[in-house]
Parts: sequence; C-alpha cells; structure tokens
Amino acid sequence: MMKLLIKNGHLIDPATPENTGMSILLEDGKVAAWFGPKEDLPTDCEIFDASGLLVAPGFIDMHVHLREPGQEHKETIASGCAAAVAGGWTSVCPMPNTTPINDNAAITRYMIEQARKAGLANVFPIGAITKSSDGSELAEMGEMKAAGAVAVSDDGRPVPNAGIMRRAMQYARDFDLPVIDHCEDKSLSSGGVMHEGRVSLLLGLKGMPALAEEIDAVRDIMLAHETGAHIHIAHVSTAGAIDAVRQAKAKGVNVTCEVTPHHFTLTDRAVEGYDTNTKMAPPLRSEEHRNAVIAGIKDGTIDAIATDHAPHHADEKALEYDRAPFGITGLETAIGLAFSELVHKGVIDLVRLVEMCSVNPARIFRLNGRGTLKPGSHADITILDPTLEWTYRNADSRSRSRNSPFDGRSFTGAAVATIVGGKVVYRR
Ligand SMILES: [Zn+2]
Ligand SMILES: [Zn+2]
Repeated sequence: MMKLLIKNGHLIDPATPENTGMSILLEDGKVAAWFGPKEDLPTDCEIFDASGLLVAPGFIDMHVHLREPGQEHKETIASGCAAAVAGGWTSVCPMPNTTPINDNAAITRYMIEQARKAGLANVFPIGAITKSSDGSELAEMGEMKAAGAVAVSDDGRPVPNAGIMRRAMQYARDFDLPVIDHCEDKSLSSGGVMHEGRVSLLLGLKGMPALAEEIDAVRDIMLAHETGAHIHIAHVSTAGAIDAVRQAKAKGVNVTCEVTPHHFTLTDRAVEGYDTNTKMAPPLRSEEHRNAVIAGIKDGTIDAIATDHAPHHADEKALEYDRAPFGITGLETAIGLAFSELVHKGVIDLVRLVEMCSVNPARIFRLNGRGTLKPGSHADITILDPTLEWTYRNADSRSRSRNSPFDGRSFTGAAVATIVGGKVVYRR
C-alpha cells in the first residue's frame, strides 16, 4: 500500500501541543506515526515536503449544497468535491434539498456512492427532518443514519411548526443525530430579498428582519433544552441569535452553531450595486450584526466555519435582484477569507482556525477519527500556507457555477494541498 511522509511541516493538532518540524507518516489511509525532528525517518515512501507550511487535520465543511441528484447543471457531487478539495476541504456535508429531497436511505446511499466514484472529498450527507422537507411528517432518520447521514435538517427552509420540531428533536435525540435548523420565521421574512434596515430602505428592496432568525433560534434552543436534543443553528448572522446561543451554552443547553465566511466578511452595503451574487439567506446583515458575528467567533460562541456553498446557474443569477435565487458558491474562497479576515486581523489564532474548520465539525457530527492527526486517525489532511498571496477568479473555479461575490478578490493565506485517505487529491 502507498505510504506518504509529510516532512518538516508545522503540525497544528489542537488535541496535542504545537509541534514544529514534526514529520507524519500516512499508510493505508490512516495516520501511522509521528516523528520528531531528530528521529530517523522511514525511506520506503513518497515524500511531501511541508517546510514552511502548516499541517492540519482535514477541514470539514458542515454545510454545502451539491445539487445532485436533480440539478446537475448547477453542480454534481464530483464537481462539488473538486471545488471542495481545491478550497482545502477534505470532507463536505451536503444538505438534503436535492431533487428529490434526501429524505430516505436510498438517496443518502446514492450521494455517498457518487462521492466514492469521484474519489476526491469525503461526503457525509445530511438527511431531511421531514418528508420532502415540507415540515409536516418526520422522515426516517434512523434509516438515513444507518446509510451514513450525520445529521438532519430541512435547510433552505425552517421547520415552521414548533410541535413538529419538538417531535423531530425527541426522535433525533434517540438516534444521537444533531438537528440543524435554518432559522427563518417566514411570517416575518417572506417576500424579503435582503437584510431589513437602512440600506434596504434606501435601495427600495424588501427586507428580511434580523428578528426572523432570532425568534426561530430562541424557539429551537428552548426545545433543545426541554428535549435534551442537540440543536445546531446553521449560518448564524444576527446579534440576537448569537447572544441566544451564548446564553444557552452558559446554561448547558446542547447547542452549537456555524458561521459563513460571507457573514463575517460582508455587510448589506455590498447589495448597493444590486449584484445578485450578494443575495443569500440569511442575508448579508448590517455592520452592527457583522461585529456581533466577529465577537461570537472571538469568544467561542460560534463553533465552526461552514460555507453554505450554494451553486446556481448564471442564467438564474442574471435575473433582477427581486427574482434571482438565494445563495452563493463558497468552497474555494472560505479559507482565504478566514485567513484574511480572521487570522491576519487578530480575531483568532491558527489553533482556533483549525478548531473551527476541523475539530469542531468532527465533534458536532460525531465523525470519529477525524478532526485530529493522532496516529490511528483517518489520513485526511489540509496543508496551509498562511502567507501565500493569491487572487480568486470565478473563471478558474472547479464548481459548475460561478455565483461568487468574491471574483477578483485578493487574499493572503490559502490551502495549498489537500490529502484525503492518505492520497494527495489537490495541490496548488
Ligand atoms: Zn440555510
Ligand atoms: Zn444552506
């Protein structure tokens, strides 16, 4: 079997102290051993020289949309995985809003099989909470879990009915599955296309108030407190939702949450040019909310960075702002944004970056043997160059879609190689 030795890198494994100059041997898809700077290294293996680079446990994107089955013109599992590994992600977790919805074991198995054929990133599907994600009847969570689903969500939609959500949490708790909610009370946000505030008023666009997210987040936290289920709030974007998570964690509620790179980078001011690649749900918020997001990242309230990669065809995004679909791509810009906006601005350090992109996603989804480089764990590794200067171009994207607001943006810091199951699947 193939052996790969990663030499001279700076290992960042938050579970163990920092290790400069360590080498790490990968064999049979697993981390086989670590070697100190003065130890004799094995010679019967391929070498990856990681001098000057950071070697981290593989990054796991908890929230993507891969569009297969059903909308392969936007993305396939293979093209999405190609974009993932080019962005430094060794694993991605696709939401169930495919066509048909991933609300049963057959579709879950199909997604995993397509990923296996592509041979790039690992795919851990998220099953639906309710059948067809229509919010009425619970899906077969146990069967989907047995097929490989790691969580349940009706993402794209909230679960509007509190009684259904309560039963979903009781059911998911018994299967030890986290419940992920896209918090958006549609009675408040319906018809809105951007954040409700001063900018929406100036632009004459209908707003989605922060309250729509906050009311659902508070409801979910109360239900999780009562049921003992694990609630994970997707893409938190408002001060009130982050504060609710902060307080709930202090009380011991089993709640976690994620943030997208666009919500820690951009504000609703980006909508001023009516670029439909600034339209997503939840919307880009005001600077006050963005500051609350940064504070939540800094104090640990926010557990993870997830892209909410949502490919759409150029023809659809070419519609006027009101009619264009919600969502942007994100797999290839996330790590550049995390370095440029968080690490280099002193919001978080490198250990915390690895926690947010690898350790915590693995913990939240119970992915045993991932989120760590300990001998015996899966040989999924993200190799990073924190000083690399580069520019993202939509035209170069591996995704089938081009709907990123970051076309032409320059970054400092990138993933430069991605290793999955001991195999180098991407090298910049
Ligand atoms: Zn969502
Ligand atoms: Zn989503």
